[in-house]
Amino acid sequence: MLNSIFHFDYNRNMADTEKQTDLVILGAGPAGLSAAQYAARASLRVSVVEEMAPGGQALNIDILENYPGNIDDERPPRSGFEFSQDLYKQALGFGASFIMESALSVQRVEDKFTVTTSGGKTLCTQALILASGARRRKLDVPGEAQFYGRGVSYCATCDGPFFKGKRILVVGGGDAACDESRYLSRLAEKVILIHRKSMFRAQKTLAERTLANEHIEVRFNTRLLEIKGGKIVNAAVLAGPGGEYELNVDAVFIFAGSIPQTALVKDLGVKLDESGSVITDQCMASSAPGLFAAGDVRSGPFRQVVVAAGEGAVAAHCAAAYLDGIRGGAYH
Ligand SMILES: Cc1cc2nc3c(=O)[nH]c(=O)nc-3n(C[C@H](O)[C@H](O)[C@H](O)COP(=O)(O)OP(=O)(O)OC[C@H]3O[C@@H](n4cnc5c(N)ncnc54)[C@H](O)[C@@H]3O)c2cc1C
Repeated sequence: MLNSIFHFDYNRNMADTEKQTDLVILGAGPAGLSAAQYAARASLRVSVVEEMAPGGQALNIDILENYPGNIDDERPPRSGFEFSQDLYKQALGFGASFIMESALSVQRVEDKFTVTTSGGKTLCTQALILASGARRRKLDVPGEAQFYGRGVSYCATCDGPFFKGKRILVVGGGDAACDESRYLSRLAEKVILIHRKSMFRAQKTLAERTLANEHIEVRFNTRLLEIKGGKIVNAAVLAGPGGEYELNVDAVFIFAGSIPQTALVKDLGVKLDESGSVITDQCMASSAPGLFAAGDVRSGPFRQVVVAAGEGAVAAHCAAAYLDGIRGGAYH
C-alpha cells in the first residue's frame, strides 16, 4: 500500500559535489527521518547526511512496543529496524535526498551554513537541524578496549546471537540495560546484570519486568573493575557489597549511558547544558540563528523514539517558518 502512496527512488543520492539546499539535516535517526519527511512534504529541498544507516540507535530495538500505534493483532509490534525502514521510505517518498557519508564540519558564512562531508561534498544551506543523536558511553576499565569485538559489546541485538547458551554480564541500570538484558536472556544460559546503585534508573515497567525475569540475576551496588580473558573474554572482576571477586563470563555488554554528539557545532556558539546537550526553545531552535536540534542530542528529560520523532517534526516545521521569515515567502 505504501508504494501506491509514495514514489520511491532509493538512488536519489546527490552526485554533484556542491549543493545549494533549503535545509540540511545531520543524522538519520528517528529525529532526522521525521524532520526530513515533514520538511520535504512542506516542499523544502532537504538533504540528510547519515554516516551509518537510517534509523540510528532505533536499529537496536528488538521490539518497539512503546511507540504509539505500533501494534499488530497477529504478531509482535515491529522491531526498531522495521520501523526505521518505514521512516526512511516515507522521507524518500516525500522527496528528501540522502547522502550516506559523515558530516565532517559545519561553518557559518554570513547567514548561511556550509557543511562538508567525508565524500568531498559541500552543502550550502540557510537552515540546519542537528539530529546527530548520542553514542554509547564507555567505562574505560582495563580490558574494555582490548576485548571490544571479542566479548565486549555495546549492542545486544547486534552481538547477542554470538553468545547463545553462554554466560553474559550486563552493566548498567537504565532503559537500555534492562531492555537489552531481556533480549539477551532469551539467548544466554544466564544473564547477570550489575548496577552500581541500589535501584534502577530505568522506567518502572522495564525495571519491574527485569527484576521478575527468572533468567536475569540482578546484583545492585556492584561495579565492573576489569574484564579479563585470553583471545576472548572469560571473566570479569567486580566490586560488590562483600568486596572484590572474579566472575566467569563469556561476554560483557555495557550500557552506561550516552554522550550527545555535538562536536560538529561546537564552534558555532551553540549553548549546551551540563551534560553537553543542545539547549533549545520550544521550536527546537538553538541559540545560533537557523540552527535547530532534535532528539537525543537535545537537552530534554526523556530519550525515546516517539520523543525524537516528535521533536524532529517540530524542528522541521519551525525551520520552514524560519526560512519563510528570512526570505519573505512561503516555503520556497
Ligand atoms: C539498546 C537501545 C534500546 C532502546 N529501546 C528503546 C525503546 O524500546 N523505545 C524507545 O522509544 N526508545 C528506545 N531507545 C532510545 C531511542 O533509540 C533513541 O531515543 C532514539 O533513537 C534517538 O533518536 P535520534 O534521531 O535523536 O538519535 P539517534 O538514533 O542516535 O540517531 C542519530 C544518527 O545521527 C548519525 N550521525 C551522528 N553523527 C553524524 C555525523 N557526523 N555525520 C553523519 N551522521 C551522523 C548517527 O549515525 C545516527 O544514525 C533505545 C536505545 C537503545 C540504544
